[in-house]
Amino acid sequence: MKQTTGIIPFTRSNAKKCLCWQCPVQIDSACIKANVKKMGDVMSTKFFKPQVVPGLYCSSGIASCKDIDTNRSCICGACEIYHSYRLGSGLPLDHFCKDGRAR
Ligand code: SF4
Ligand code: SF4
Repeated sequence: MKQTTGIIPFTRSNAKKCLCWQCPVQIDSACIKANVKKMGDVMSTKFFKPQVVPGLYCSSGIASCKDIDTNRSCICGACEIYHSYRLGSGLPLDHFCKDGRAR
């Protein structure tokens, strides 16, 4: 079922385009690694929920994993979703995993 949170739809196809999986903020997080493993393939997983999906924070808001390092750089600026929804003209500008969903 399609789930909508904020202005970006929380969909599998949007999650597929998301770059958070490659982000330095998340790369060393044991919690994120466990969620990635649990989730499996984003297009078929039954765990397609904001608490488990380690990305699409511009839609879902603050990350459930608390061992991410939000002092590192955000790579949202290189993301297709970021540009198609013009997130550069909204708030927060980046680090949605720390500052909440785009609005
Ligand atoms: S803008 Fe950032 S949080 Fe949103 S889909 Fe792209 S990489 Fe993920
Ligand atoms: S929202 Fe930005 S800082 Fe947070 S994980 Fe995604 S790309 Fe990295």
